[in-house]
Amino acid sequence: MTDTIPQPIAASDASARPDGQETAATATARRSTNVVGEQFPRVDFYAVDDLLEPEEIAVRDRVRAFMDREVAPVIAGYWERAEAPMWLLPRLAELGIVGGSIEGYGCPGLSAVAEGLVATELARGDGSVATLFGVHSGPAMYSIYACGSDGQRERWLPPMARVETIGAFALTEPEVGSDAAHARTRARRDGDGYVLDGAKRWIGNGHLADVIVVWARDDEDKVAGFLVEHGTPGLTATLMEGKGALRAVDNADLTLEGVRIPMENRLGRSRDFRETGRMLMRTRYTVACGALGHAMACYEAALAYTTKREQFGRPIAGFQLVQQKLVGMLAEITAMQLLCWRLGRLLDAGRMTPEQAALAKLNNAAKARAIAAAARDLMGGNGILLANIVARHQADLEAVYSYEGTDHIQTLLVGRKITGISAFS
Ligand SMILES: Cc1cc2nc3c(=O)[nH]c(=O)nc-3n(C[C@H](O)[C@H](O)[C@H](O)COP(=O)(O)OP(=O)(O)OC[C@H]3O[C@@H](n4cnc5c(N)ncnc54)[C@H](O)[C@@H]3O)c2cc1C
Repeated sequence: MTDTIPQPIAASDASARPDGQETAATATARRSTNVVGEQFPRVDFYAVDDLLEPEEIAVRDRVRAFMDREVAPVIAGYWERAEAPMWLLPRLAELGIVGGSIEGYGCPGLSAVAEGLVATELARGDGSVATLFGVHSGPAMYSIYACGSDGQRERWLPPMARVETIGAFALTEPEVGSDAAHARTRARRDGDGYVLDGAKRWIGNGHLADVIVVWARDDEDKVAGFLVEHGTPGLTATLMEGKGALRAVDNADLTLEGVRIPMENRLGRSRDFRETGRMLMRTRYTVACGALGHAMACYEAALAYTTKREQFGRPIAGFQLVQQKLVGMLAEITAMQLLCWRLGRLLDAGRMTPEQAALAKLNNAAKARAIAAAARDLMGGNGILLANIVARHQADLEAVYSYEGTDHIQTLLVGRKITGISAFS
């Protein structure tokens, strides 16, 4: 999908927009102590960088510099207008990160740790950008890699790595969310192909994707992956509007009515929901890393703000209660950084379990959500201004808390593991 991708806005500060005028929103933020346009030193209290390989640091720094330079100055406007900056995808491809840890097929074959660092940096810059990139590079591409035949990998992955072809991942349905193993969409064998009927909801990039991995129930009642191409008769996509989080990424409702696809569009190695589960495990790891990025952004902004903002004749960072909040945030972020690093190494070694990924996702999303709330508090009224970063992250974290498996569901997965008793069927 390369049509209608606008050119990037050459922005050197937070006020930039296409006509070079400061927006009303950034002007409002500037009229008091604020963090608009600041670039913050990265938090790394326990020198976690020492645990990283040079190439992992290099890709992390590439992504960070790009987000600081190209995305931070303009993203609040996209968020407010609920407009997805799709022009970013080809620019992100230039950073050598699309396809993450997939080996071959034009993908960079990053370590899982590096893939996690990329997710952290993208989300530290902006959650919508992290999500629009993540859906394509993560579950869409990885489904084809993990569950596709050699031919399917050869056909789809190289153009997806170049983002000439955009992918989406469609598991959730209007009536089936957490209970994803019981998806109702059907894929019926018919002659030399399949016919799909059903509906999907919340599908990131779903209205413009060239190829959608649709998870549907086959004639043997097994949930498997099917590739549905853009424009296939019977497939309709309706943009979801009115979101209060991740406003700068598009989600779509999909309807599939008698959608006929050829046999070869069934993912070759996809036999039942276990493959889907393995795929979701990887995504939960990167979402956990993304939650860390949101938390870092909020902490860094709150630290900068509180050292600058004066009340009662001194910087508010000098008050004990404020320091307590900042230190609490730092403690959680440091724990998350170590957790992500360790989980990435386990994944690289082929040892990460679904429950370990679930624990990281639930821990980091919950902690990041609390950190965003504390950061917003420390910035007082200015904390609700979109131009001052934190409010956007705080809103976006509400979606992160729920997607890729809610807090409850991750808890039940870990609970089943440690007790041996399933609290859900
Ligand atoms: C911004 C965004 C982007 C998304 N992108 C995609 C995408 O690209 N592709 C895709 O397939 N999906 C996507 N999703 C869907 C997402 O994965 C689901 O929203 C998520 O799995 C939760 O499902 P649900 O929203 O239907 O909530 P529900 O399952 O209805 O849950 C509602 C509440 O009930 C609780 N609950 C449910 N069952 C239990 C139980 N057994 N025990 C205790 N509590 C329970 C939940 O924890 C939650 O608190 C996206 C969602 C959002 C918000």
